[in-house]
Amino acid sequence: MNIVLLGIQGSGKGTLVQDLSKHLDFSLVSVGALLREEIATGSQLGKLIKSKTDKGELVDIKIVIETVKKKLSENKKPIVIFDGFPRSKEQADELDKICNVDLAIYLNLKKDDAIKRIMNRLTCSKCGNITTRTNCPDMICPICKGKLTVRSDDTPEAVNKRFEQYELETYPLIERYKKRGVLVEIDASKTPNEVLKAVMKVIK
Ligand code: AMP
Repeated sequence: MNIVLLGIQGSGKGTLVQDLSKHLDFSLVSVGALLREEIATGSQLGKLIKSKTDKGELVDIKIVIETVKKKLSENKKPIVIFDGFPRSKEQADELDKICNVDLAIYLNLKKDDAIKRIMNRLTCSKCGNITTRTNCPDMICPICKGKLTVRSDDTPEAVNKRFEQYELETYPLIERYKKRGVLVEIDASKTPNEVLKAVMKVIK
């Protein structure tokens, strides 16, 4: 079963995936996280990727597809969740060549609420755990005690650019999957636990 997660930045895709992993065995293809891993190696490719992500621009489709294919080649699990991919019509066309999309989960959240969440978002520099300033004002990860940091692309300029890109390129994909009859819309303004329950009902 191949599942695509769609939703504006800050709609809770990362948190949902984190919570789902406690209840469901799946392989995760999180393109943003995979790109950040490449950046962390300090490679030339990582530097090229960082020059795009820091500005909130989409990374070249060839690099993205390579990244997705590499991750899928290591997969042995029957459920695959794509987070942050596809993000454009071209990427969705490429995904159709790779596999069948059985379910597209759309986390629907208003832009104003998404901005508030992004401004509150913290990520652990050690284990990648996603949390908030409200939950962790001491900036220490409750899971591994690593240092919590603000993502380098969560600056107002980069966030605006990502919203623009989402509205222009990613949002139309909702119609694409709706027409195919595989789209399920979830109210992402609810608590993480409520969102998790709603998604579990759809998957099981
Ligand atoms: P995310 O972690 O999903 O918010 O992604 C962080 C950044 O990685 C984005 O702002 C893009 O620069 C890049 N990125 C993630 N997914 C993709 C994708 N499917 N295509 C192109 N760039 C991507």
